[in-house]
Amino acid sequence: MAEPVPLLGMGLAALQEWAGLQGQPAFRGKQLHDWIYARGARSLEEITVLPKAWREQLAAAGTTLGRSALLHRSDARDGTTKLLLATADGLSIETVGIPSGDRLTVCVSSQVGCPMGCRFCATGKGGLQRSLTVHEIVDQVLSVREAMDRRPSHVVFMGMGEPLLNTEAVLEAIACLCGDLGMAQRQITVSTVGVPRSLPTLAERSLERLGRAQFTLAVSLHAPDQRLREELIPTAHAYPLEALLDDCRHYVALTGRRVSFEYILLGGLNDHPRQADALARLLRGFQSHVNLIAYNPIAEEDFRRPAPEAVEAFRAQLERRHIAVSVRASRGLDQDAACGQLRRRLLTAPAA
Ligand code: SF4
Repeated sequence: MAEPVPLLGMGLAALQEWAGLQGQPAFRGKQLHDWIYARGARSLEEITVLPKAWREQLAAAGTTLGRSALLHRSDARDGTTKLLLATADGLSIETVGIPSGDRLTVCVSSQVGCPMGCRFCATGKGGLQRSLTVHEIVDQVLSVREAMDRRPSHVVFMGMGEPLLNTEAVLEAIACLCGDLGMAQRQITVSTVGVPRSLPTLAERSLERLGRAQFTLAVSLHAPDQRLREELIPTAHAYPLEALLDDCRHYVALTGRRVSFEYILLGGLNDHPRQADALARLLRGFQSHVNLIAYNPIAEEDFRRPAPEAVEAFRAQLERRHIAVSVRASRGLDQDAACGQLRRRLLTAPAA
């Protein structure tokens, strides 16, 4: 018999239809929707407005809401909170809540592990375990809301995994965040290091599934030339920079949205003003914005964090070349700030 589908991730109409198929009136679907999304219920047991007999029947059939269990919580002095969540099949997902003024950004994972193997990334060290499902992505946002007792204002797909290797679930999750949690697409960012042929698919599927693609697409470049990029991102050998940028131009034409480019600054490797010049040449004529991120060292690699003066010089050089640029503040430096670092430390720590 097929496993029952978790209810988290279903919209109001789907929950009403599902309740109808269970022989229940449609308003039960509305009650489920309120309790799952507005009240953040963790189990059917908690939804006491539903008839007890029905709840017991559903539990006996294995129906769940699909919420994760909290394995670990780590709070940094700057207010950033990292959560390690357990999936139903015992895997762990890292998700982060980053407060800033009246914003709360949730950095969600789209996969458990990641197959891309970027050399500066802790997640890439362990390979891919599997892609996450819609409810496992939405659950991360609800878990941060619950842990931080605040409504998330923004979601960035910049946690573990390459979102464009899980495009359908990511788009479904965006539909749920907007339709059921009341977020706007413009508050959501999908970040990729580049997967061949995935950008045209993302543009087309976004238009089909979401009506329009208003979320921000962030493309991680990290190097101004193909040789260095391949050194940092091994999978880049199959996707030349020129082809990636052509696909970005095509994406802009199809969606009407500007692309933002991420560039992680590694001390002494890609942070020279000459490389800022090369990056500016690469992006000439592009409607774009560059986000610079100072590298957070991980134990397995000997890349260095760039000097603050180098970050400033790189930024200034891009500005001189008329490239819109901002420097993203590193948050949570006292608590395994790099993507995948907390999970890796906890999962590889010797048993106490
Ligand atoms: Fe994967 Fe992103 Fe890490 Fe690269 S940086 S290995 S794409 S999680």
